[in-house]
Amino acid sequence: MHWQSIPVTVTRSLRARKVWLKMRSCQGIEVVLPYRVSASEVPSILERHRAWLLERLSELTDRGEAPGQNPLPDEVRLDFLDRRFPVRYEEGSRAELHAGEQGLSVFLPSGKVGAGATLLQMWLVDLGKTHLIPFCRELAAHHDVPIGGVQVRNQGGRWGSCSARLTISLNAKLLFLSAPLVRNVVLHELCHVAHRNHGPAFKAALRTLDPLTDAHEGQMRKAWENLPAWTKWRRGDGTV
Ligand SMILES: [Zn+2]
Repeated sequence: MHWQSIPVTVTRSLRARKVWLKMRSCQGIEVVLPYRVSASEVPSILERHRAWLLERLSELTDRGEAPGQNPLPDEVRLDFLDRRFPVRYEEGSRAELHAGEQGLSVFLPSGKVGAGATLLQMWLVDLGKTHLIPFCRELAAHHDVPIGGVQVRNQGGRWGSCSARLTISLNAKLLFLSAPLVRNVVLHELCHVAHRNHGPAFKAALRTLDPLTDAHEGQMRKAWENLPAWTKWRRGDGTV
């Protein structure tokens, strides 16, 4: 795909001090113009940043998130479960997802890509509740860590958290990771029961439970970037 075929949105901002250029995943180029810059300058602005646009476009294409690319998957591969779920799409009057032995069937009114992403996220959270909650409870019992509840949600920015009331929250996206990485995230949160910060005592406790912690944490940062676009889709994103 050539960058000149990508849709461009021009946003006028009274707060912007300078020109901002964004390439939004699955959507297009957004140019934010401050008051003093005329919209007639947009073509030359884009031409000046051609190298950046091409680089960003190829990154997005590799992840299946280029503008115009459909972010909905034909298959969902969940390493934690060591399973692949084929996904079929059909046009329907209402947005619905059916999970069966053969995989997933998603019914969508035409053009409702966002609704498809939301349905897949709901399915992922259900699956997370089924598999991640017992996994966490077993690890807690095994290491004698007193915890409150365990929740699974599709959070934005973190793999897990531990509240002051000792409720562990786990991100449904963990299902995309291998079991050793998920184990490290759960152990991390369990260590917060005794250590409320990331100080030396916390680090020592976590490394005792998982000697490969440093390597696992490095892999987890990369894993976040590699998550499929639909898992990060938010209602209200874009126009699709
Ligand atoms: Zn932490």
